[in-house]
Amino acid sequence: MSVTVEQLTKVYGSQKALDNVSIDIVKGEIVGLLGPNGAGKSTLMKIITCYLPPTSGEAVINGFDIATESMQVRRSIGYLPESNPLYYDMHVKEFLHFIAGVHGLKNRKERVNEMIEMTGLHVEMKKKIGALSKGFKQRVGLAQALIHDPEVLILDEPTSGLDPNQIIEIRGLIKNVGSQKTILLSTHIMQEVEAICSRVIIIDKGKIVADDKTENLTNLFTGPEMILVEFEQSVAKDALKKIQGVKNLHSAGTNAWKIEVGAGSDVRKSLFDFAVKTNNTVLSLSKEKHSIEELFQRLTK
Ligand code: ADP
Ligand code: MG
Repeated sequence: MSVTVEQLTKVYGSQKALDNVSIDIVKGEIVGLLGPNGAGKSTLMKIITCYLPPTSGEAVINGFDIATESMQVRRSIGYLPESNPLYYDMHVKEFLHFIAGVHGLKNRKERVNEMIEMTGLHVEMKKKIGALSKGFKQRVGLAQALIHDPEVLILDEPTSGLDPNQIIEIRGLIKNVGSQKTILLSTHIMQEVEAICSRVIIIDKGKIVADDKTENLTNLFTGPEMILVEFEQSVAKDALKKIQGVKNLHSAGTNAWKIEVGAGSDVRKSLFDFAVKTNNTVLSLSKEKHSIEELFQRLTK
């Protein structure tokens, strides 16, 4: 086992941030820790990385106990904290040399160059960290997490605050690295998990509410499908309700409707036909992605 967490509980004052959490992650897995803000994701990661002691419970990382072997645990882990604290006045190369020194690496120059290569930092390596874009700052964060070649990577919301292109680049990087490491990454975005993780652990109010292969969890979404449609001109609710396949509908703004569709039926073509017949125009039409809130509601019911 690469990461074993047993009955971890963390109490801040009177608040339980983690409530009896147990997890087993084997070598080579990329696991997504999915949960809304305040669920306890960062707290769990800080405990696993020995930055915070648990109130009770145990964790063993790469065979080392967080309570008694914190030095070995830290050596086994690469950690990208949520805030990605970097020294903005340092240059990229200088910073990575510094981190390599902290880890007591012998082949510093070589490792720094390898990390710059691996994370695609060469174009920006002469800049001060403070002058980098957020995406490149995340690359520096990943490079510092990887420089001592740890077995386990703990990444706390690694793509939060990045623009869509940067998100794709960082996800690609994580996936590449993931073929040789065990990764636990946190996110509040379902699509992130679908894009990179083989397994999902869903956490809510400090408790694990689901732990399964990603495909099994996404298959839970086989309930009624929602279609969002916006017309140019107003439409009578009763007229829409008559369209075959429409089970239920709610207003979703001016001339916009959220339509619940019966299993297996796609009413999109009928909606277009309806618009044409009534001299109306469809301005937009989309299938609604199930939100994490819906998944939570189902799982915590
Ligand atoms: P997440 O990373 O999932 O957003 P956190 O682990 O940061 O969640 O927080 C879990 C809960 O614990 C939240 O309700 C948060 O307010 C609380 N919390 C986190 N850190 C502290 C702290 N140092 N002192 C008191 N409460 C905290
Ligand atoms: Mg957090």
